[in-house]
Amino acid sequence: MEHLLQVENLKVNFKTFGGEVKAVRGVTFHVDKGETVAIVGESGCGKSVTAQAIMGLIPSPPGRIVDGSIRFNGQEITAMSKEELHRIRGTQIGMVFQDPMTALNPTMKVGSQIAEGLIRHRNLGKQEAKQKAVEMLKLVGIPDAAKRAEQYPHEFSGGMRQRVVIAIALACSPELVIADEPTTALDVTVQAQILDLMRDLQQQNNLAIVLITHDLGVVAEAAQRAVVMYAGIVVETGPVEEIFARPKHPYTWGLMKSMPRIDGAKERLVPIEGAPPDLFNPPHGCPFAARCDYAMEICQRQMPEATDFADGHKAACWLHDERAPKIDELVAAGRQV
Ligand code: SF4
Repeated sequence: MEHLLQVENLKVNFKTFGGEVKAVRGVTFHVDKGETVAIVGESGCGKSVTAQAIMGLIPSPPGRIVDGSIRFNGQEITAMSKEELHRIRGTQIGMVFQDPMTALNPTMKVGSQIAEGLIRHRNLGKQEAKQKAVEMLKLVGIPDAAKRAEQYPHEFSGGMRQRVVIAIALACSPELVIADEPTTALDVTVQAQILDLMRDLQQQNNLAIVLITHDLGVVAEAAQRAVVMYAGIVVETGPVEEIFARPKHPYTWGLMKSMPRIDGAKERLVPIEGAPPDLFNPPHGCPFAARCDYAMEICQRQMPEATDFADGHKAACWLHDERAPKIDELVAAGRQV
């Protein structure tokens, strides 16, 4: 069965004065209709660049897709013209960005901003589009929608503005929404409301969502599958429940130790020491080796292959090679888990 979105061996470079940054280095994952897939990792891991590539928004120059394929609904995104990309973004792929204030036009009423896409991409008349805009505001939970449609973005709170951005993204009934850190600029209560809203809208519309986040709490709350990225590659992927119950990669272990416990258990949060590698000259071996408590000699020399576990759960780490010492042996040798 063909997936709604299939990203295969995607590589994206950026030219800078200092050389070429290899921001995304062979990323593969898929998204099916009606599911949320979270791409998670620290800033600079390549997750937002991957999202930009899917939306055809890599600024070129300095960026370019050097290899790989992005198939959406059977169409190759990397081979599309600017016009085709523009049409697909308006009708089939919706976008929600981190900061609703920059995503909205401050000089335009919010109703008109929602109606704009409907007039351009769905050929609705002005009146019909305006009416649909009010319906969309109701759908995303904005009270007194007819009146609010006549107001400007600055008259809305941060959470309400993000609801407007979601209404714009969904107005043309896309099949896929890319949400890049959609709740990062919001306080925790509003964050939970926006995640609930996205989940409800997803179920009602059988939407697929690619959720870009650095926050494992958001992943646990909102996604069915996760793709953990580090230094431009996928280090672990699989069903969210599996990853949380049986994480397989030391980087994922580190992310979990740095995250507050949802059950309120008081454990010391442990940040991952060190910094990601230089992506001008990425290491030949595992990119996490310099920060990994379990690094072995082979890790420095050779990139590990992904090992398959249950239900599509995979991790790229030498610890899962049958010749590697068991974790217990490493702990006995003084490494920490
Ligand atoms: Fe650590 Fe080696 Fe696994 Fe990389 S491959 S995460 S360095 S044990």
